[in-house]
Amino acid sequence: MSWDKLSFNVNNSEFKVLWDYVAVPTENKDINIQVDEVVFCGYGIEDANYSDYKNVNVKDKVILIYHGEPTRTDGTSWITNSQFQSDWSTNFRKKVDAAKSHGVKMILVIEDKFKDLVDAKRSQMISPVFLLDTEEITDNTQPNICYLSSSMSSHLIGKSLNKVIHNRNKIKKKGKPLSFAFQSKVKIEQVKHVKAVDGKNIMAYFEGTEKKDEVLIISAHYDHIGMRNEDVFNGADDNGSGTTAVIQVAKALQMAKQKGIKMKRSVLCLLVTGEEKGLLGSNYYVNNPRLDLNKTIGNINIDMIGRVDAKYLTDSSYLYVIGSDRLSSELHEINESVNQKYSQLILDYTYNAENDPNRYYYRSDHYNFAEKRIPAIFFFNGTHEDYHRITDDIEKINIPLLAKRAKHVFF
Ligand SMILES: [Zn+2]
Repeated sequence: MSWDKLSFNVNNSEFKVLWDYVAVPTENKDINIQVDEVVFCGYGIEDANYSDYKNVNVKDKVILIYHGEPTRTDGTSWITNSQFQSDWSTNFRKKVDAAKSHGVKMILVIEDKFKDLVDAKRSQMISPVFLLDTEEITDNTQPNICYLSSSMSSHLIGKSLNKVIHNRNKIKKKGKPLSFAFQSKVKIEQVKHVKAVDGKNIMAYFEGTEKKDEVLIISAHYDHIGMRNEDVFNGADDNGSGTTAVIQVAKALQMAKQKGIKMKRSVLCLLVTGEEKGLLGSNYYVNNPRLDLNKTIGNINIDMIGRVDAKYLTDSSYLYVIGSDRLSSELHEINESVNQKYSQLILDYTYNAENDPNRYYYRSDHYNFAEKRIPAIFFFNGTHEDYHRITDDIEKINIPLLAKRAKHVFF
């Protein structure tokens, strides 16, 4: 999903997306409107003791609101009557729902921290957003939403600027809403480009014996970032290495089965797609599981295990372990004891720290399993200079090391 056409004209001046305003495709439906009036609607709050929607007609209107909630000079909120903010400040969804219930056509938000917002939403604006089609792509009954810079807001408010500022100050002082309509010629056109892309997860199931209802999932994502102009991103480490490891584990399990060696529990080898677009394949699996999630005892996820990072240039027998002790101490212990007995890798927990700034725990497919309370472990070699570059090629993969780590997963 991306923008096909986007224009925002105020009093005959055309404003520029990312420079003056932000509009995200997932928050907007196709629209083409022209109005002569905008309603200043305070903070867009509708609460028991305070409502910006009182005494004002906003049906099919464009409204302009501030972020947050009214506070007294001592910083206490008129909503909570304390220093604490209400969820009107912390959960923007509430304001959208309030506007929706009054039939508002479009919400314009005066954004004081416009630069931060641009940084946060830039990628959703300039490159296509990928969503599972099981998710609601855009709620067509919801008002469209645009975030405006302060200077664009001033231009839009025009002659009424003093009144808006005056009303805002008065709201803060008295805790009483002061919404009003003002004249402003606004023309907005938003047209989205939506395209369906097919993706497939690939599964190999090995049925267990005594406890075959219980399943261990071994996963890796097999997608990468594709092409940019003529450049092909092969992604040998990310995640050719993990994909290969899962296939080799599956091969070993199949060979064992042919020799009559069977495991107590079942194993599902799962290659997922769409990881690079937001963990989509694993998200789809956990919400459409083929095997009972309540009986899914764990997930081992492999994402990049064919290379060496800067820390281990001299001794490459290592593996970063992330997440193993978050939901189960047992998984952590099994991993440690198997390592002691067979693999003898240096198990590095640096990235497992709760406060690790890289937040890898949240960044690969195991996280979707962890979110469903399934103990998960993520094996990873750390990053390197070829990460997400066209130089992430097979020549740079340390094959014996990849085999050693893949064997550890098997053990
Ligand atoms: Zn990856």
